[in-house]
Amino acid sequence: MAKEITILGEKIEPGKSYQIKIDIARLHTRTKIEVPVIISRAKKDGPCVLISAGIHGNEVNGIEIVRQIVANKFNVPDAGMIICVPVLNVFGFLIKTRQFPDGKDLNRVFPGSKNGSLASTFAHVFMNEIVVHADYCIDYHTGGDDRFNYSQVRISKNEEMLDLAKVFGAKFIKYSSHREKSYRESANKLGKKVLLFEGGKSLDLDRYVTKAGITGALNVLDFLGVKKFPANFSPQIESTSQVIFEESKWVRANHSGMYRSILRNGEAIKKGAVIGLITDPYGFFEKKVKATATGYIICLNHSPIVNKGDAIAHIAISG
Ligand SMILES: [Zn+2]
Repeated sequence: MAKEITILGEKIEPGKSYQIKIDIARLHTRTKIEVPVIISRAKKDGPCVLISAGIHGNEVNGIEIVRQIVANKFNVPDAGMIICVPVLNVFGFLIKTRQFPDGKDLNRVFPGSKNGSLASTFAHVFMNEIVVHADYCIDYHTGGDDRFNYSQVRISKNEEMLDLAKVFGAKFIKYSSHREKSYRESANKLGKKVLLFEGGKSLDLDRYVTKAGITGALNVLDFLGVKKFPANFSPQIESTSQVIFEESKWVRANHSGMYRSILRNGEAIKKGAVIGLITDPYGFFEKKVKATATGYIICLNHSPIVNKGDAIAHIAISG
């Protein structure tokens, strides 16, 4: 007999797919806000993989990744169960902001509480109704504002997670400690294996990032035996030379002005090398910005105007 699974009051039968809604809140206009959860369970037992995005409402690239996974039916498993939540923070997505309508960052209120703020209540329902069923979680993010992250996976430092991250296939793998009260921290405490993907920037779609994000999920599903893809299927490890790192360093603007980057995201860089130029708009000065470490560029600020102290580039320090 297959294990009995009930999610948000709905019995999830083997061999069936569901679209259920987390329906916990109304806006001040009395408009009901529903968060669709797409669940697909195989006849055969196996692990449960939870694929989510949009915990920050303006990180649309992740939403597009999960949307494509669903649209292409990659979420229909051969074994186990796949749960997709393309837009966790529907509230923020509606008005293109990172936060919840109560001004809270959803990713800083986990695991939430039953009678807390709107964000906190939502986190509580998500943890207790959805996350609790998962064995593996893939959560998609982008850089904040104009900071464009090269596709990378962030994990806890252990061998099993490293193997999974390698399977995912993004060029960069970062060991990163958990941010307090984040989804990743709370899921980890429940023993879930969490892969956090970072790629692209807010309010932007980038097809290379989308491809890396989808490919990663399919690689993991295939590896776990949840969904098998033919050997000649497009998902392939993106890069044969993956860079694993723990330390990283931001390069900050040494002046205020207009900024031109002269390097490409993802490339290797030596300490002291010029990475960009800051100028005034009148043609009087031009200042070089130099790399403060040797490593790889994993994030570039795309903003053409910077203030002194702004983060311009992020360098992964490997080995
Ligand atoms: Zn995010």
